[in-house]
Amino acid sequence: MTDTEREIYEAAREFKNSRFNVIPSVLFTNHKAMEDGEYDEVLSLVAGGRTCCSYCGEEVELDDDTDEWTCDNCETSGDRDELSMEGSPYAWPCAHSYMFWYDDGLDITEAAADAGFLVFESPDMSGVILGIDGGGYDFVEAHWVKLYNNLGLKWHESE
Ligand SMILES: [Zn+2]
Repeated sequence: MTDTEREIYEAAREFKNSRFNVIPSVLFTNHKAMEDGEYDEVLSLVAGGRTCCSYCGEEVELDDDTDEWTCDNCETSGDRDELSMEGSPYAWPCAHSYMFWYDDGLDITEAAADAGFLVFESPDMSGVILGIDGGGYDFVEAHWVKLYNNLGLKWHESE
């Protein structure tokens, strides 16, 4: 790691620690609406994760130009509204035991999805809640540094 990379790493960690509220995932999974299978009452995925064919569940790619997708598996196609968002192959809402609530003014949805986060909204909360569906690696390096860079933050330069 170069000096600059080290400074960006520390700044990204500082961004995470100072602007996000950490929430144990179990508070969402223990929500009473979950027992009735009403997941959207608790959290709904708005960006990130996988986009899947709503007929067979196979992962498909949305064409940004036409806003359409084609499923090779069951030979159907559709538009954005007919996609099924399947965010969490490992666990719902995510494999990591903690989630990160952000409500501090910036629109981070696309930047966070691009950095590998699952981006959720909850009807009871403003802002977005980020989840990481993974484990066993350095989250700061894999996700937070990317988010920091995607947002164009320059905290490391003023230190
Ligand atoms: Zn299909």
